[in-house]
Amino acid sequence: MRLFVDKVLPKESDRKKYYSSLKNIIDNVIIGMQSMIDGLSWMKPESKEAAYAKIRNMVRNYVYPEWIMNDTNLTEYYFVLDPSFMNSGYPKMLMYVDQFLRRKDYDFLLRKSGTDRYDWGSLLTSVDAWYQDKLNSITIPLSILQAPFFNPDWPTSVNFGAIGYVAGHELTHGFDSSGISWGPFGESLEWLDPETKQHFDEMAKCVIEEYNTFCPLNASYSPRCVNGEQTQGENIADNGGIHAAYRAYRNIIDFYGPDPALPGQLASKFTHDQLFFLSFAQIWCEMPQPTDLIIKQLINEDHSPSRYRVQGTIQNFPAFRSAFNCPIGSNSAPKDHCNVWISDANITSMNLSADPCNNFYEYACSALKGDILSDMNDKSFKTMVRMMDSMLEGDYQGVRNFI
Ligand SMILES: [Zn+2]
Repeated sequence: MRLFVDKVLPKESDRKKYYSSLKNIIDNVIIGMQSMIDGLSWMKPESKEAAYAKIRNMVRNYVYPEWIMNDTNLTEYYFVLDPSFMNSGYPKMLMYVDQFLRRKDYDFLLRKSGTDRYDWGSLLTSVDAWYQDKLNSITIPLSILQAPFFNPDWPTSVNFGAIGYVAGHELTHGFDSSGISWGPFGESLEWLDPETKQHFDEMAKCVIEEYNTFCPLNASYSPRCVNGEQTQGENIADNGGIHAAYRAYRNIIDFYGPDPALPGQLASKFTHDQLFFLSFAQIWCEMPQPTDLIIKQLINEDHSPSRYRVQGTIQNFPAFRSAFNCPIGSNSAPKDHCNVWISDANITSMNLSADPCNNFYEYACSALKGDILSDMNDKSFKTMVRMMDSMLEGDYQGVRNFI
């Protein structure tokens, strides 16, 4: 792990830059997620409090564990590795490493002083990120901090569309069909009240039914469609994650002003909202898969195929429709969609068949039946403003200080 950090980030100034950039992204995505929970019309206050406790106590591991940069710590860590390791030849080296890792696993299981919630749980060198429900921790290692996921010098829209979404995805695992059974310290805990749980189940059902309709293969194959039930946790995490990341990106743009348009003939044609979604989609671009691999994935995987991770997510997100001016009813902007960890504003007063460019009042009001925008409240906005104020006061440490 240490060799990898020394190779990729040899300069301390770069290591600091990565740390502060990731901290900024994760903290803001967490604020985005909290504002989503704040604004939920169907979640009871006691369940919101439990959700805030989970966010407040979530361990955030990112870039690399700081202890590995200290030689004394490293020597201590590897002390139990057999000293003949270095001169033993490749096959024996593998055996020693295997023994060493097993011993570390047993040490973890046999700890006398409780759980180490800061354990990263996997190697720093995997191009991956993960949530550990029994520790309530998210981990975003250095190995994923490269194109197309992240570069500290990229525009806000591009970073938040990619690594910001990844952070939001992992965070939302704490609030998916499995995450709602684990508490703020990784303890087994059903923290949703029964009424809120019912609404959560309706939300999950919508996602399950949506993804059941995605069929990458024709009718001669079985299975040929995504299994919505099996993939629901990952799909909920994708949908919640992109909402949290988008809110975080918009908050930063609103607060600091937008980044300049990208240079270049093609790139300069895109708005930053479009770049956000392009950046998100491009982390899932892949070469076409052979049929047997697709079938294996449909049977075994709890992730949907990449194409549907993009499609399923954007079609639930009106901000995508606005960014690309998609007409309502098109594939990417269907009339009905699932709301994952957010409440829609009540827009029943709108007449979507009217032309907003010629008669906006007709468009906004002509189907008025009762209160308009009744589900919106200003609480989430106030939360944002107060958090941003605390950033200005210099005592900002994410949501930790605030709640
Ligand atoms: Zn996941």
